[in-house]
Amino acid sequence: MWIVPEAAIADLVSRKASFDAVEKVFAAMAARDAYNFPVVREAIGHEDALYGFKGGFDRTGGTLGLKAGGYWPHNLEKRGLINHQSTVFLFDPDTGKPAAMLGGNLLTALRTAAASAVSIRHLARDDARVIGMIGAGHQSHFQLRAAVEQMQVDKVIAWNMHPEMLPKLGETAAELGLPFEAVDLDGMTEADVIITITSSFAPTLLAQHVAPGTHLACMGTDTKGKQEVEAALLARATVFCDEVAQSISIGEAQHAIGDGLISDSDIAEIGAVINGTHPGRQSTEEITLFDGTGVGLQDLAVAAAVVDTAIEKGVAIEVDM
Ligand code: NAD
Repeated sequence: MWIVPEAAIADLVSRKASFDAVEKVFAAMAARDAYNFPVVREAIGHEDALYGFKGGFDRTGGTLGLKAGGYWPHNLEKRGLINHQSTVFLFDPDTGKPAAMLGGNLLTALRTAAASAVSIRHLARDDARVIGMIGAGHQSHFQLRAAVEQMQVDKVIAWNMHPEMLPKLGETAAELGLPFEAVDLDGMTEADVIITITSSFAPTLLAQHVAPGTHLACMGTDTKGKQEVEAALLARATVFCDEVAQSISIGEAQHAIGDGLISDSDIAEIGAVINGTHPGRQSTEEITLFDGTGVGLQDLAVAAAVVDTAIEKGVAIEVDM
């Protein structure tokens, strides 16, 4: 069994490798060659922590395993540790023996950014030039860096509930050589692509804030009760997701479904667009919306790519289990 510590991951994985791994596994999911196991997420009654497992099996990639982890809200203030903590475990699908254990924190950010980037590649208009960011926390920087690699960007505009966080996102835009402007929500109509990445439990982006032809990547809603965009937007948009079961239970679609505005048959998997079995965007006026809830197979796909590189570079630690 190979061990790849969290501290080693940054030198082993690129955004390009993450993008390729996530695009491939979304395609395998839509072709029914890969599937995710039901998500377990528990409030454990200790340290206010939420702990759980996301796992799956990709027959084509030969990847079997799970990500274990969650959210410990007091880590930073009490112990100087980051609040999100996760570890990825891979198993040999032929024998069931453990194959690898990897730090999953950076991988989570990279695979989440890769998912919205995949949606931009396949669903945004070819002439999209302005990126709108809703959110300015830890993930937003990864999101922006991955998104600009999928379109020709002239400008980044951003809104955040806590405006004091925006200058840091502006620094990331500046590093990427892009003009940056903080706007109010009405100003979001200038965006051709909007990424939402907040921990909101009530909609902030409303239908009136989104212009025809926009592509939305809704990435923050990954739990029952969370919501970033108005449910009416899903009724107006063509809705895509990573996995329908997660989208309707823990994603943005949970609200539109609950309000009777759409049904699960209105939601297509992005993998179908990648595979060419769904036409994707069909007009320049259409609003496309990707409900990215984060599936276990994304973690496993990126982790598997890292293990191979870690072994090649002599960084992986081998233990006999
Ligand atoms: P963070 O704590 O660093 O940042 C939180 C962001 O949400 C900030 O922009 C903050 O201003 C904003 N925010 C907080 N409360 C809000 C509210 N009530 N209304 C509107 N905005 C609010 O978190 P992060 O690590 O950047 O993660 C952001 C979200 O992304 C979280 O909800 C996290 O669970 C989710 N996430 C999703 C995936 C996925 O695969 N879909 C993966 C990782 C994280």
